[in-house]
Amino acid sequence: MLNLMWINGEFVESASTQRFEVINPATEEVITTVPRGNGEDVERAVAAANAAYLHWRKIGSLERKEMLHEVARKIRTRGEELAQLITSEGGKPVIENRDEVEWVASCFEYYAELGRDQIGRVVAPVFEHQMSLVVKEPFGVVAAIVPWNYPILLMAWKVAPALAAGNTVVLKPSELTPLCNLFFAEIFDHLPRGVVNIVCGFGKECGEPMVTSPGTHLVAFTGSVDTGRHLAVLAAQQLKKIHLELGGNDPFIVCDDIDVDTAVRAAAWTAFLNNGQVCTSAERFYVLEPIAKKFIEGMAEFSKSLRLGNPMGPDVDLGPLVSEAQRQKVEARIAQGVQQGAKIITGGKRPAQFDCGYFFEPTVLTQVDEGMEIMRSETFGPIAPIQVVKNIEEAIARANNSEYGLGASILTNYLEKAMLAAENIKAGTFWINDPLTDNDAAPFGGMRLSGHGRELGIEGLDDFREAKHILIDYKLERKSYWFPYRWEK
Ligand code: ADP
Repeated sequence: MLNLMWINGEFVESASTQRFEVINPATEEVITTVPRGNGEDVERAVAAANAAYLHWRKIGSLERKEMLHEVARKIRTRGEELAQLITSEGGKPVIENRDEVEWVASCFEYYAELGRDQIGRVVAPVFEHQMSLVVKEPFGVVAAIVPWNYPILLMAWKVAPALAAGNTVVLKPSELTPLCNLFFAEIFDHLPRGVVNIVCGFGKECGEPMVTSPGTHLVAFTGSVDTGRHLAVLAAQQLKKIHLELGGNDPFIVCDDIDVDTAVRAAAWTAFLNNGQVCTSAERFYVLEPIAKKFIEGMAEFSKSLRLGNPMGPDVDLGPLVSEAQRQKVEARIAQGVQQGAKIITGGKRPAQFDCGYFFEPTVLTQVDEGMEIMRSETFGPIAPIQVVKNIEEAIARANNSEYGLGASILTNYLEKAMLAAENIKAGTFWINDPLTDNDAAPFGGMRLSGHGRELGIEGLDDFREAKHILIDYKLERKSYWFPYRWEK
């Protein structure tokens, strides 16, 4: 198991000489320890990335493409090992992590090809014998800070386009899931040294220096709104560009023209996948009155049937939450909601059958309203709060009544209702009848408090490069508009 940082192609301890523990959330056992990185380590990594940039930005597109395809090939070869590692430190069922591994390989392949396509355009010249080229060039060194819920996917969404655009990278995983990112030292080891560097540690000690270092030129961050806001302020002091993929509080509308059994399965998956620890988890359900009773009963019954257990096992729907702190946050949110009048239909507590692990029952709540934290902010837990609404207009108005704008979903067979909602709800992604599905070739990101910048698609590549206008005049001659004025040929 790789439990060292990777700087300039070498496995290293931290200058702090300290290490911290990585815990398995299903067993609460210590898996291993990893270096507790600090600003000195970051500076070494940043120096290596800057040195590597001089060569990497100029490398030919075919050679770079081949190296990125090799990343994808190595990921697939070691996919099972990687999937199990993600499960051991993050608690997500291994069956889901196999998908995550595949998506990561696919993301590298997509950007391997996109990176050798156009890097700009030629625009109409203002004067004769001139050409105006618009060339998109890399920023330099990208500081990529990633979270624990989809630890390698959200890494890939940053690192693959950053490299394809010609940048080099300093990557920091979450302190909860460093191992599956450190594993990538062996996936990236055919790249020139220093092109990717992986440091690990805590946010303040190791993440902040990546943002404040004058040697990084762009920050790509996925995490909480509070941290994102803090980092945006730090980046602004150097006028450094920052991409923020922050939390969501995604609404999910269930119309009354649908098959309730199908709707229940879609809703339960969108609320409880990875225990609701998905930034685009459905966090607020708006169900039309005529089917509300049947839908709520269906949700309660189906939620009870979900199988909690060892996330390494084959017949498991839900593993543990990532940490005890996360479980306590979920419990506090539910308690607060109940105190304000919410009703627990099912779940709401720790399951009795486990003597260790941060497990929590999938929970369905009704009698909720927008005054409650569970409806207003992101919980990141297995909770489905359901509010009954009279019609589609009310559903859209309530769905839009949020500070966030990451994703939103609707289930309906009527195009008119679907498009009315899609047009009027502020969200970076809007899903009609297939919630949570992403596409490498289409952008993902947030509006409002959910952040700015886009990952995936051509937009996700363009966010890692900046435009330069190169004006060429192929005839060097004295111009009529130079000094002295009113000179004529
Ligand atoms: P979450 O609550 O999902 O863990 P965080 O925003 O706390 O979200 O963490 C997401 C990532 O940001 C992690 O890699 C974490 O170490 C990092 N991080 C947290 N605080 C800071 C900070 N002050 N500066 C830089 N990185 C940070």
